[in-house]
Amino acid sequence: MIRPILIHPDPRLKKVCDPVDDLSDELRTLADDMLETMYDAPGVGLAAPQIGKLHRLIVLDCVKEEGEEPRPLIMFNPEVIASSDETNVYEEGCLSIPDQYAEVTRPKVVDVSWIDRDGNQQQETFDGLWATCVQHEIDHLNGKLFIDYLKPLKRQMITRKMQKLKREMARS
Ligand SMILES: [Zn+2]
Repeated sequence: MIRPILIHPDPRLKKVCDPVDDLSDELRTLADDMLETMYDAPGVGLAAPQIGKLHRLIVLDCVKEEGEEPRPLIMFNPEVIASSDETNVYEEGCLSIPDQYAEVTRPKVVDVSWIDRDGNQQQETFDGLWATCVQHEIDHLNGKLFIDYLKPLKRQMITRKMQKLKREMARS
């Protein structure tokens, strides 16, 4: 089921989300819905607070090449356990901040641990777009958006555009 995505500014996007300690069928369904919502958008990542659910849950798939096998990942309680000193700059966007993009600097390589859909502990090293994406999504679980890395003026400009967009959406 495709779920509506919250648009910034929204108080639910600023909250620190709760850890998942019991993997219920309801949470698995939520994760499946998030993947469906992400592919439909389309996007490469989605965090539970973006659909108004304050759980530490993210989904991602950064395979972008046409014809390449998709790689949907579901992560409960994801955590960056190590990050490289080397950084990378990517032009980031966010499904909760449509059509706005800005360069963000982050560690280039990160080790991430999480619990998968079957309740198994996983750990993997991510690089490039995957590393950026997983850090962006984990930030969402701590109430942090990519625009929080920008200079205040730029951030305010984007926020005003989003407020205008939300007014227009409410009218139509
Ligand atoms: Zn985002």
